[in-house]
Formats: sequence, C-alpha cells, structure tokens
Amino acid sequence: MNPAAEANSRPDYVAINGEIVRSEDAYVSIFDRGFLFGDGIYETLRVYNDRIFRWEEHWKRLWASAEAIGIQLSGSGHDLHETCRRTWQANGLRESYLRVTITRGIGVPGRLGIRDAGDPTTVVIARAAVLYPTEWYAKGVKLVFSSILRNHPLAQNPTVKATSLLNNILCRSEAESRDAFDGLMSNSEGFLTECSSSNFFLIQGDELKTPSIDCGILGGVTRSAVIEVADSIGLKVQEGEIQSDEAQDADEAFITNTTMEIIPVRELEGTPIGEHCPGRRTGYLIEEYKKLVEGETQ
Ligand code: PMP
Repeated sequence: MNPAAEANSRPDYVAINGEIVRSEDAYVSIFDRGFLFGDGIYETLRVYNDRIFRWEEHWKRLWASAEAIGIQLSGSGHDLHETCRRTWQANGLRESYLRVTITRGIGVPGRLGIRDAGDPTTVVIARAAVLYPTEWYAKGVKLVFSSILRNHPLAQNPTVKATSLLNNILCRSEAESRDAFDGLMSNSEGFLTECSSSNFFLIQGDELKTPSIDCGILGGVTRSAVIEVADSIGLKVQEGEIQSDEAQDADEAFITNTTMEIIPVRELEGTPIGEHCPGRRTGYLIEEYKKLVEGETQ
C-alpha cells in the first residue's frame, strides 16, 4: 500500500484499555514497557461481514503468548471480543483488520525485571480492510532466502506472537533491499521456517508441505485453515523439515497470513517456481479458502 492510501486508512477511533477514544487523542505512556522494551504480545485479526474470522483461535494464541511470557491478561476473551467489536463498529466498518496489542504495562527505564510492572496496557486498532495489489495474487511475489535466522525456540520463541519484531524487520528490510517481497528465514539447523509475517507452503506432486511448528515458526491461524482446506480437497498435508533446494524444486509455493490470506510465490532466490504462477492447485486453494471464510462469517 502506498503511504497516502495508508494514511487514509487511519481509523477515527481506537480502544485503550477498553475505552473507545479518538485516535488523535489516544496515547500510551512513554514509560510503557511496550515502548521501552518491546515487552508485549499482539494479534492481527480479520473482520469479514461484521464477524471476526476464527476468533477462538486468535484468543487461544493470545492467551498462550501471554502465559508464555508471564503477562496476566486482565479481562476475559468475551470482554476483549466486545472491545474489538466496539472498535470496528465505532469506525463504521464491516470489513476490517484488527490489531490487538497487549503490553506488560508501565515500567521503569533500565529496569528489565517484571516484578514491579503495572497492569497490562491493551490497545485495539481497527483499520479498513484494503485490497492488496491484484498483481500479487495474479502473478505471485518474489522471495529470497534471508541471511537472518528465525529466532531459536530457546531464545524468543517464534510460537509467541511478541511485539518485539526486530528480527522480522531485519529480514523484511534485507529482502526489500534485494527487490523481493519478503525473506524466507531458516532455523539454526538450516531448515526453512517462515517469512517475516507469513507462513510458507510448497506443493510437490499431490503433497502440500509446510515447516512444522517444531522447526520454529508461528502457528498461523491462516496456516491451520489452509491445512484443513487442503485436506478436504485431497492434497496430502505434510508438516516437517524443508530444505532450500526442495523449496526451489517445488511445483508451486505460496505464503499465508490473516490479512493477505494466500499469496502465490513466483520466484525463490532467483529460481522460478513451477511453470505458471499461480499454479493450478494454489488457485484452487485460494478459491476454497475464500469459501471457507464465507461459510464461517455469514
Ligand atoms: N508467521 C509470522 C512470523 C507472522 O508474523 C504471521 C502473521 N501474524 C504469520 C506467520 C501468519 O499468522 P496468521 O495466519 O495467524 O496471520
């Protein structure tokens, strides 16, 4: 999206700790640990037709992220869902991207210990869902192999959806400097993991392959939905270890996340993927995924 379009999609209202406020009046403290240390978690959700797609899965993941880093969520899932609904509705939206951010609250600069952190800060931002460039879907995007490794699960575990995204940002900016859409990161053992904000899939024969959670990835909500769809159309789903040459030899490849859904990959580190992009089965998955979403958000 170009910057002008992005600015136009800035919402009128956001929610801070459950309260709807005008976005120009919305502030969090400079002492918030989210600002000081990137100490927080988040979710990106999609509202279709006035309903959140797979709310339960997002809530479960948020809850697990909070638990993993010791943030005590202050309200229930129902409360947060209501805050989300009030936020997108305050902006008059029925199709929206939601960003829920929960930080560990107010802290003291230089004091990393969490004992004296305040109550969590919760911010919900609802933006109008924008259509990404049709070219991405019609022609696919270019990926490169990133020189940045995905965080080791024994460091900042990739299953935790943490706001400290510097590693992912380095991956993305390196890819952009190489004129690619995104970078595909490997783990410390050399197996592929995921891109800076999406999961990676390849199709080889009648198999759909994607790195397993054990490879050190975020368990994407879209990833699970795609696995269900693939199963139902007879693709054999295999979650496991994938090497870079296997990915470059694939018949088809694509990436997934909540906002973009499924985007075909046309080139991987200079190697074209398959003969046509999008490949036949990726096209089929894109259609079936749309049907799944429509079915669940009617
Ligand atoms: N991996 C990473 C690193 C991400 O940031 C995201 C986007 N949140 C995903 C995968 C895709 O997850 P989801 O399908 O839940 O949006």
